Amino acid sequence: MRAAVYYGKEQPLVIEEVSKPDIGPLDLLLKVSRCGICGSDVHFAQEQGVAPGTVFGHEFSGVIEQLGSSAVGDFKVGDSVIALGGIPCGECPACLNQAFAQCQSIGLIGCDVNFAGAYSEYVRVSSLASLKVPESVDMSDAAVVEPLAVGLNAWRKVAPQAGADVLILGAGPIGLAMVKWARFFGAANVVLSEMVPSRMERARQAGADLVLDAKQEKNPVEAMVRETGRSPTVIFECVGRPMLQHLFDIAPHQSHLCLLGACMKSESINISTATLKDLSLTIPLGYGVEEFAFILDLLAREKMDTQPLISDEISLNQVPEIFEALKQPNDHCKVIIDLT
Ligand SMILES: [Zn+2]
Ligand SMILES: [Zn+2]
Repeated sequence: MRAAVYYGKEQPLVIEEVSKPDIGPLDLLLKVSRCGICGSDVHFAQEQGVAPGTVFGHEFSGVIEQLGSSAVGDFKVGDSVIALGGIPCGECPACLNQAFAQCQSIGLIGCDVNFAGAYSEYVRVSSLASLKVPESVDMSDAAVVEPLAVGLNAWRKVAPQAGADVLILGAGPIGLAMVKWARFFGAANVVLSEMVPSRMERARQAGADLVLDAKQEKNPVEAMVRETGRSPTVIFECVGRPMLQHLFDIAPHQSHLCLLGACMKSESINISTATLKDLSLTIPLGYGVEEFAFILDLLAREKMDTQPLISDEISLNQVPEIFEALKQPNDHCKVIIDLT
């Protein structure tokens, strides 16, 4: 089968023939339909965060080609499914509790050379962590359930009150997902700060009440208060650059900060600047089967959509070129690889 393979930060991904993944008793082999390119894939590539030979891709939809001998669930060959971005051990207390994100032995699909991702014609997933895609849900939308679930999990962890005043920093796919969840859960005021004009426009389309130009407004909290008369009770950081100290400096008293950018660079911070404001801080990881099921149901009932997250649909052959482009400032949002 063909896959886009990572060989190091100095070189583009290489499209080549690799062997189809072997599956274990609890696994499913999927023929990949669509796979999203995630910002974290690009970060991992740039920071040499994964071993040469890794195949990225943890945001995917596919069709069951083969079932493991002990696969659980109501699955058969030909079913359309999505799966969590990991292969849980299935035996630890977390797994028995379906809290797969807490499994200490989970194999992360697309971030580990031993668990090839879905920039590829086939991908191995676990039946424990797979869900059927309802017929009415488009397979590209199904591949975007993963980033929506990252946002949903963060929203639930922070648990803002209905009518909250929300500030979101960054309008990449996760920032846009936060706009959509803030709207969905009844935030009164949704303000987003972003510096790329095309992304600012997407934030408006996603439903932000006000989009601040981050190039002009260095203190988005001040700008939000000036423009709306309200200060944020919650700030979602969806940028991925070192900015925690900046957040401590600008955050209103007793506000809640949520870091979603998964920044891989270090910064020094002065904790007392946060203590004196009595801030709360949440740094969430992942999502569960429940978030996936909730979102699939909303998509099927047209209570949630993926617009305007998807910017491009490309072929596997185009992946190396687009992946390089994503390393630079760009106008792309969620790029979806069509493997059908
Ligand atoms: Zn992702
Ligand atoms: Zn486990």
